[in-house]
Amino acid sequence: GPVFAHHFDHSAFKGKVEVPIGVFVNGQWGTSADKNAKTIDVINPTTGETLVSIPEGMPADVDLAVKAAHKAFETTWGLNCDGPTRGKYLLKLATLIERDLDILASLEALDNGKTFTAAKAFDVTESAATFRYYGGWADKIEGKVLEVVPTKFVYTRHEPVGVCGQIIPWNFPLYMFSWKVAPALATGCTIVIKPSELTPLTAMYMTKLIKESGIPDGVVNVITGYGPTVGNAIASHPGVDKVAFTGSTPVGRKVMEEASKSNIKKVTLELGGKGANIIFDDCDFEEAVKYAAQGIFFNHGQTCCAGSRLFVQKGIYDKFIQRFQEATSRIKVGDPFDPDSYQGPQVSQVQYDRIMHYVECGKQEGAKVLHGGQRVGKAGFFIEPTVFGDVTSNMKIAREEIFGPVIVVTAFDTEEEVIAAANDTTYGLASGVFTQDLSRAHRVSALLKAGTVWVNCYNELHPQVPFGGFRESGIGRECGPYALENYTEIKAVQINLSAKCA
Ligand code: NAD
Repeated sequence: GPVFAHHFDHSAFKGKVEVPIGVFVNGQWGTSADKNAKTIDVINPTTGETLVSIPEGMPADVDLAVKAAHKAFETTWGLNCDGPTRGKYLLKLATLIERDLDILASLEALDNGKTFTAAKAFDVTESAATFRYYGGWADKIEGKVLEVVPTKFVYTRHEPVGVCGQIIPWNFPLYMFSWKVAPALATGCTIVIKPSELTPLTAMYMTKLIKESGIPDGVVNVITGYGPTVGNAIASHPGVDKVAFTGSTPVGRKVMEEASKSNIKKVTLELGGKGANIIFDDCDFEEAVKYAAQGIFFNHGQTCCAGSRLFVQKGIYDKFIQRFQEATSRIKVGDPFDPDSYQGPQVSQVQYDRIMHYVECGKQEGAKVLHGGQRVGKAGFFIEPTVFGDVTSNMKIAREEIFGPVIVVTAFDTEEEVIAAANDTTYGLASGVFTQDLSRAHRVSALLKAGTVWVNCYNELHPQVPFGGFRESGIGRECGPYALENYTEIKAVQINLSAKCA
């Protein structure tokens, strides 16, 4: 099949990288089975230029992938591959990801625009950690024996759901791949996964590592393509037993609708957010400033759990805003391969336009630009880290997810008032609390309607810790043992030992 070959000569990483590109079905790379398929231009967000045109996947390819995944489930995987063996494959994958750390980080920087440094330290390292973590779980999937009546032996089996469809976004291409694929493989499921059409390169590189790990053909199938074609075909396919989606709330709704209209496949959703980050006046001031900046500007604000609404208590508001502006002005925006860059380009022209639209909107609504708000440079999709003050809760920029380096700041008086303000959103993914008062930390954490509360830190993720949303931020939890439940069916087996039929 076709190959994307890129020669990296950046100081961060030098070397030639070859990535198989195209649809990956039953262990083979190729072009679409549909003659009408075209190609997809993958854009380098640093320059706005095309990196490579990759073959477009189509619904016909999803069909073939589902068939391959079914066959693998019935023969080489599922109940035919024991847990310890599945675990070995996952541990091997973790090691291969670590071996190719620089390659994967370079591809991520090139394709997504995140910095090489961040991709290496976070995305790729944590992806390896995720595969290793679930490798450890693969031989620890267990049911229960249930005491019912003396004449019966009753137990549960936790069996793999079957063929899983997985649809992932562009903000953490490899990391989201690992969150989806690792727990599904650990439980014995087989997979048809669609990376974002904007950032397919690391998922394609992973197909090479999956082959090298020895995982049998057909266990993981990767279909590159657009949402309304390939994504929709996965969500509506009668042969897919479960769909896992990460992306925007409107598309999540659509995935759920297709799942219900087709075969009631199981659904988990990780959707958007509008995280409240609450700074009480008894916080460790300098640490809170740094974490608040990282909370929004990490990954260029393209983080579903971003602390995009900052609430600062009145006693320290003026001083905090001043220090926060200083911290923001120190953020270096530039080439993702420059080791000094903290922030690279936004992922695409569409996202760039969307964010700039919100910036304009904020100005028109009467919010005050305290910092940024402008484009950086002439080429690529770079935006200054942007801080809005004087924001009121009815403004669009305070209610809608911007998914860029834009934060809205509001002052508050009391704990009660800020909890109400923080919960005044349709989302419920994550929030932050900065205080040195232990009782307050627990009290506020309990009252925030969000799947994660970070106390005196922000944006920290671990394979052991569940992640997911309350409310319209989603359904289900990824990471930790919780994610295993997404990929297992519980079977109750009741054995009559001696009772006669009444
Ligand atoms: P999106 O929802 O359009 O895309 C996500 C994925 O869904 C992509 O692979 C896309 O091709 C696919 N898709 C698009 N239309 C589809 C359809 N009709 N059926 C099936 N799949 C389809 O997201 P976007 O607009 O590219 O990204 C920005 C938004 O994604 C943000 O606003 C944010 O809310 C959300 N997001 C959330 C998380 C999270 O972890 N919760 C992570 C990343 C992005």
